[in-house]
Amino acid sequence: MIIDSIAYPIEIEFPDIIPYKVCNTGVDWITTLDSGVAGPHVMISALVHGNEPCGAVALDWLFKQEVRPVRGKLSLAFMNVAAYNAFDRENPTASRYLDQDFNRVWQSESLDDPEVTRELERAREVRPIVETVDLLLDIHSMQHKNPPLMLAGIQPKGRALARQVADPEWVVCDAGHAEGQRLRDYGGFSASNSKKTALLLETGQHWEAASAPRAIANAIRFLRTTECVSVDFGEDFLVKQPQPVPQRTIEIIAPVTVQSEQFRFAEEFHGMEIIERKGTVIAMDGDTAVKTPHDNCVLIMPNRRLQLGKTAVRLGKLVD
Ligand SMILES: [Zn+2]
Repeated sequence: MIIDSIAYPIEIEFPDIIPYKVCNTGVDWITTLDSGVAGPHVMISALVHGNEPCGAVALDWLFKQEVRPVRGKLSLAFMNVAAYNAFDRENPTASRYLDQDFNRVWQSESLDDPEVTRELERAREVRPIVETVDLLLDIHSMQHKNPPLMLAGIQPKGRALARQVADPEWVVCDAGHAEGQRLRDYGGFSASNSKKTALLLETGQHWEAASAPRAIANAIRFLRTTECVSVDFGEDFLVKQPQPVPQRTIEIIAPVTVQSEQFRFAEEFHGMEIIERKGTVIAMDGDTAVKTPHDNCVLIMPNRRLQLGKTAVRLGKLVD
């Protein structure tokens, strides 16, 4: 059953990113700024999903501030620009991607495969730069109006970085999706023996007005945390934003993957519901009941576009 009934207003102005096409990296839409001083390669990426403009808003803001790294390198990357350009206000969810989800192709089996899709072509183009990145913030947003989330992966290093950024309130520690790996999990980002670390920010609903300043504020905090910019960078902007609250961490136990053509949720969940009792039926997947595996189970981002083999919802455990 596909429920896509909630039409959210488009309150965010999609920035004109044309000025950022021709770059100094040899790869369109990725600009790398080099401080000339030793330090990590920090990247902020936007538009991994074409209908999620907040990352582009943050990058546009950073460009207009003429951000410059004080150590290491800073890359500002617009990823699936073709999907962004396909955005249609009459059908705003359609441009998440063109041929396949850009955020599920990040494994060498896909990237090295001869298969050609527009997303794979773009991923292959940006891959050599991504492989040199030490610290990544990948900015996304959500289908539904949920509080912002920081997806930190399953390694302690991701959780530690999310804690240092100290925004937003909810930190979600998860392994990703059965259908394919995300950019934030690619290569060293998810390897325990690598210092490379990535965070994925979900700013809130894709087009809600509050998502845009959240993206900018989080980008500022991320750049400060990585010491890519000075400690007072973006202060004028940050003082006008809501101050961060103490963080709470959720560990994802397992994603629920759609196994049949007849998957339906027991209720119209919107996300961040806390189901108190273990064994509560939250969905039927064909004839199989999907039950909460433990008490105080948090429903993370239930999917409205339910398709076979895709993630229906992720179940989390409140840990602190
Ligand atoms: Zn996204």
